[in-house]
Amino acid sequence: MNGSWIYEKHTEDYGVSWKINNILHQEKSEYQEITVADSETWGRMLLLDGIVQTTENDEFMYHEMITQVALHSHPGIKNVLVIGGGDGGTLTQIVKHPAVEHIDLVEIDGQVTEICRKYFPGFQPGFSDPRTNIIIQDGIEYVQKTNKKYDLIIVDSSDPTGPAVGLFTSSFYASVFQTLNNDGMMVTQSESPIFYADIFTSIYRNICSAFGSAHIYMSTVPTYISGPWTFTIGSKKHDPRKIISDRPVPEGMKYYSPAVHQAAFVLPQYIKTQLIKAG
Ligand code: SAM
Repeated sequence: MNGSWIYEKHTEDYGVSWKINNILHQEKSEYQEITVADSETWGRMLLLDGIVQTTENDEFMYHEMITQVALHSHPGIKNVLVIGGGDGGTLTQIVKHPAVEHIDLVEIDGQVTEICRKYFPGFQPGFSDPRTNIIIQDGIEYVQKTNKKYDLIIVDSSDPTGPAVGLFTSSFYASVFQTLNNDGMMVTQSESPIFYADIFTSIYRNICSAFGSAHIYMSTVPTYISGPWTFTIGSKKHDPRKIISDRPVPEGMKYYSPAVHQAAFVLPQYIKTQLIKAG
């Protein structure tokens, strides 16, 4: 932190500065430093260990896309598991679907959920919905031990540092595969294809090894490193590029539409080249 600017360092020669009005909350939990800052351009921002996780003004570009693509391509999603996602943004998108019957959110850091409930009123619908069940536990341990099966598992994790490292491994995706029903689907945020190309391609490889194939799609999130952002789907049966025609799009979408859904799977050539090299 430097005066009224937050400096987010990404690599040895790239960082971003955010001008903020004030810090609303800051504490060190058992797992990470949690900061809520207020800014002119982005509204309230959640940072973990100095890295922006979500902001009030561009969260829809991430949360709609990590949820709505799977929810519009799997025809029978009733039980959903979210791993990470303690801010409540992903939950708030899922509860827009009346067909979903139950959502377990497994977040390692109970302080993140407590603080976001207080400072992000826009994410209240996800937390307060009666179908939502919050479990404070390591998501890796949860998928290894649970006997429950889900139609959809969403991995809404922070970057692969600290407790999130294991959420990017092939053994974790193998446990996710086991925890899905026979026609289940998983989606994970899969980082920047520019700044974290190695991580992005290793997620692709690891999901391919667990599911036999993987589907990548993109969004643009201005407060994530340089904007372009990827998501990767592993699916046991349904093709995530095929939209279910009779599923109504929830009202008030600001990013997602059926046309965006289809376009999001069209990848730029540099990413296709990365994937070919990844094998
Ligand atoms: N949308 C965000 C992004 O891409 O930067 C992620 C937001 S969400 C706040 C990420 C959450 O994952 C954090 O609250 C963190 O505590 C949680 N997390 C990290 N490792 C985890 C693990 N092993 N099990 C469960 N939750 C974990």
